[in-house]
This record gives sequence, C-alpha cells and structure tokens, in this order.
Amino acid sequence: MKAEIVSIGTELLLGQITDTNAPYIASQLPLLGINLYWISQVGDNQSRVVEVLQRAWNRSDIIVTTGGLGPTQDDITRESIARMLNEELKVDTALEVEVRGFFAQRGVQMPLSNLKQATLIPSARAIINPRGTAPGWWVQKNGKLIIAIPGPPAEMRRMWEKEVVNRLREHVKGDVILSRTIKTLGLSEAAVDELLGPMLNDTNPTIGVYAKIDGIHLRMTVKAGSQKEARAILAAREKEVRELLKDKIWGTDDQNLEGLVGEMLTSRKLRIGVMESCTGGLLASILTDVPGSSAYFTGGVIAYANDVKVAWGVPEDLIASHGAISRETAGAMAGAIRERMGTDIGLSTTGVAGPDELEGNPVGLVYIGLDNGKNNKVTRLNLPPRRPDVKIRAAVAALFELRKMLLNEY
Ligand code: AMP
Ligand code: MG
Repeated sequence: MKAEIVSIGTELLLGQITDTNAPYIASQLPLLGINLYWISQVGDNQSRVVEVLQRAWNRSDIIVTTGGLGPTQDDITRESIARMLNEELKVDTALEVEVRGFFAQRGVQMPLSNLKQATLIPSARAIINPRGTAPGWWVQKNGKLIIAIPGPPAEMRRMWEKEVVNRLREHVKGDVILSRTIKTLGLSEAAVDELLGPMLNDTNPTIGVYAKIDGIHLRMTVKAGSQKEARAILAAREKEVRELLKDKIWGTDDQNLEGLVGEMLTSRKLRIGVMESCTGGLLASILTDVPGSSAYFTGGVIAYANDVKVAWGVPEDLIASHGAISRETAGAMAGAIRERMGTDIGLSTTGVAGPDELEGNPVGLVYIGLDNGKNNKVTRLNLPPRRPDVKIRAAVAALFELRKMLLNEY
C-alpha cells in the first residue's frame, strides 16, 4: 500500500504556517503498516489541487488530504476531488441535517455558504466531525482511497484518532491477497534468476522461488483493492513469466504430476503397469494417490531382487552381462511389464538408493525405462546421493518421463 499526503492551503506556501498535519499523519501511517511515499503541498488553487490529486491518484493507493474543507470560496478540496474523479457534487440531505444541527446547538442560523460542507460525490462517505462544521470525506473508488480531513490541527487529530484509524486499519486488512504458483522443471534456481531478472525484485506481485522435489516453483503474490484487480495483476505477470520460461512450465497451483498424467492417460484410454526396483513401490503408490487411477493403472511389481526381475520377464543373461543397474535392464523391465500386464505402457526404475554403491555404480545413479510398444526409451539420472531423496526423486522423474511421452515428445 503506497500512501501520499497532500496538505492543501496557500498559507503553507506563503510560509505563514508550518505544515504540522503531514508530519503527524506521517508518524501514524507506519503503525498501520502503510508505506508513505510522498508528501505534497499545494495552495488553494483548483487546477493545481486537481493536478496534485491526479498525480497522487495515479501513483498511490491511499491519499490523505488535510485542509480546504471549510465553507469559504477558497476551500476547494471537495470540488477538486469531484473534478479529478469526474463525479458530481450533490448536497446530501442527511449530512445537511447534521451540519445544520451543529449551528442549531449554538443557537445560530447556518450561513448559506456552509451548505457546501454537506455535499458528497457518489464515491464519498462523510466522516463526522464533532469538533467543527467540516465533515471529512472517505472516498473509495477502483481499489483506491482518498481521506479528506479538515485543516485545523485539533480537528484533524481528533478525526484521525476517533474516526479514521479504525476504518483505515479495516481497509488495509480488507486488501485482497492472492497467490498463484507456477511449476517448472528442468531449470536451476540460478537459471530462473537469470531468466526472470528484475521481475524478482518487484514488490507487487512478489515472486518467491522455491526448489521442490517436482522442480522449481514460482509463487507470485499480489495485494490489491479487489479480487478483480488482484487477478488482473497476477494474470499479466503470469503471461510475462510464461513468455520467458515457455515449456519449462508444467503446471500451476495445486496441480500435481500424478494428476496430470492421470488425466492424459484417462482421456486417451491408455493403461500402464510398472516394474520398480530402487523406488520400492513408491511410484505405484504415487500413481494410485489419484482418485480414479484404477481407470489406467493396472498394477506394479516391486522387482527388487534379480530373481524377481527375471521371473517377470527380464532376460537373465541381459542382467548378467549389463548388470541390474543399467540402461539395458531398465529398458527390458519396462518392456517386460508392459507385455505381462497387457498394458499400453510399461514404466520401470532401477538404480542405487544408497548409502552404499552397488555393482560399482555410485549412489544416485538411476535409470528410468519407458516402453509403449513402439518406442523403448531409457533415461539416466544422477541424483543427489541421499537415500530418501533418491527414491522420491526417481519416482518423480519417472512421472516426468511418462508425461513427456504422453505429450508425444517420443
Ligand atoms: P482549512 O481547512 O484549509 O480551512 O484550514 C484551516 C486552518 O487550519 C488553517 O488556517 C491553518 O491554520 C490550519 N491548517 C491547515 N492546514 C494545516 C497544516 N497542514 N498544518 C497545520 N495547520 C494547518
Ligand atoms: Mg484553507
């Protein structure tokens, strides 16, 4: 929330009085978590007041004005706000009763000039002023706010403390905060940093960069006056991010890989079986986290021991000559499970989860096999050598390979 204070009154520019209202309000705004970016002073000249208000309106979210709410000709704050917002000033009957009441209390007739203190525009509500005749204005429009407060310091202060602070606290709290997460794969944090550049320093929306098991997530968070505005800001920023990161983006918000591949398999009426070694059933577990996965997931075999791999159709001599952790074995596992399960797709994992090396292979070396009857593709991964990480990362990588195949990349 960017705030700006506008002090209105020619006497300020003549050096006849010192602006004490702005410093007071300036000292109060941080207590509400509102950032003050500008303080302006302007004389009682309508075109210049409109000019200053217009500039404040363009660059700030909250504008606080003091002064110019009196009954005389030179008090033109209401008129200036009305003109800047292109709204019509009208005497408000209820407000007129109130202003007249102030005079009646003192047993005097209200001068006609005071009637203008009972005027409002459609976007304005009156702020009561028990200390004087000038009500303040609370103007809300397009997610922005103008608070117009009388100039006399005692009135200003009382109105601020009794009428404005609580409303303003509500208003700031009433801000809409929306977030959107964009999920990427195949980019390092440094690469994201380089691609997005200065965008990462923006404060509205902010972009948080998080390294997750399923890739780098970008969480964009916006604060705005309305849902509509917040969505528009997010949508604009998302478009820019998409132009920069292109097909590295695989999903948004609460979309997950297993759900996405599940939808693709379902819509194409494809079925899948898995043969897992190093993931120990985790891949089947994740695939079946999705409601309705029975439509495409037929089953899996945890072929940890070589005997089991062989029993499920992997040639014994192939394992003997290439090793269990090899491109050849991973490919054979995927092909074998596809045939045995009678599915369209076979998916396999074999690798070294650790902590010890296996067959002379380092911890973290993993092969993912995919077979769709036409193509047999094996992907080699070098994962960080921590056992729990190797299992989950290998399972996630298998889902990514499956997604790639379903996107017809092979
Ligand atoms: P106005 O609301 O413009 O009629 O201002 C009424 C009186 O309040 C002025 O004559 C000043 O004495 C005082 N005043 C107005 N603005 C300020 C200010 N920014 N700081 C201190 N006093 C002010
Ligand atoms: Mg004045």
